[in-house]
Amino acid sequence: MTMTTNSLNVNNKEIAKFEKVANQWWELDGDFKPLHQLNPLRVQFICQHVSDQQSEIFAKKIIDVGCGGGILAESLTKLGAKVTGIDMGTEPLNVAKLHALESELSINYEKITVEEKAQQASESFDYVTCMEMLEHVPSPESVIRACAQLVKPGGLVFFSTLNKNIKSYLLAIIAAEKLLKIVPDGTHEHDKFIKPSQLINWAEQNGLKCIDASGIHYNPMTENHKLTDNLDVNYLLCCQKI
Ligand code: SAH
Repeated sequence: MTMTTNSLNVNNKEIAKFEKVANQWWELDGDFKPLHQLNPLRVQFICQHVSDQQSEIFAKKIIDVGCGGGILAESLTKLGAKVTGIDMGTEPLNVAKLHALESELSINYEKITVEEKAQQASESFDYVTCMEMLEHVPSPESVIRACAQLVKPGGLVFFSTLNKNIKSYLLAIIAAEKLLKIVPDGTHEHDKFIKPSQLINWAEQNGLKCIDASGIHYNPMTENHKLTDNLDVNYLLCCQKI
């Protein structure tokens, strides 16, 4: 594991990649197009699990870890949640704040690591979301531990990331970055992708019980996307704090 010199669980090179393209965040056809396309499916997955718990999003406290320009944070706010978004990228947060202002949404954005936030605000959120972020940090387990600390007992934590296998290499790196160029070249490193078994293991070692996993079928060639049982490439997990 390569921790950067600031000893935070932050890879500055990864942050720099997002700083550089932050102005693209809300371009529906830009570098973040796949996130815009996947977002309704993530919201659907979250809402389904919240309602399975006989609960609702409205008025709940949610923290979105690695929120970037705020795509998910805004959707959850529109459903009535009280959302905090945290990220270590300055430009993505600036974009997020500006966009929330334009959308007339009140969202609390903060530049802070999830580990530091967990120290400050232990067990204070009903739900935690951490989407497409674990594959960009030196220690994903440290992020998972902090997410588990942030959520109230019985609350839900949602993760999404990319599976590690040949198919995810071919689709998420070769097709999406090199051939079709729908995300910037170098966005992902295959080494940082995470097998669901590994993610579930880390979650369960940190007081979370995995209650569901769902694949996101996203074919960069056809741009077809839907929730599926197949976890081969993009996938989502729903965990509950014991
Ligand atoms: N979760 C958002 C954005 C995903 S892009 C979404 O799915 O819509 C990944 C984001 O993680 C970027 O905004 C990047 O700045 C952020 N990130 C990377 N490493 C981080 C870290 N160590 N702490 C907080 N945010 C981080």
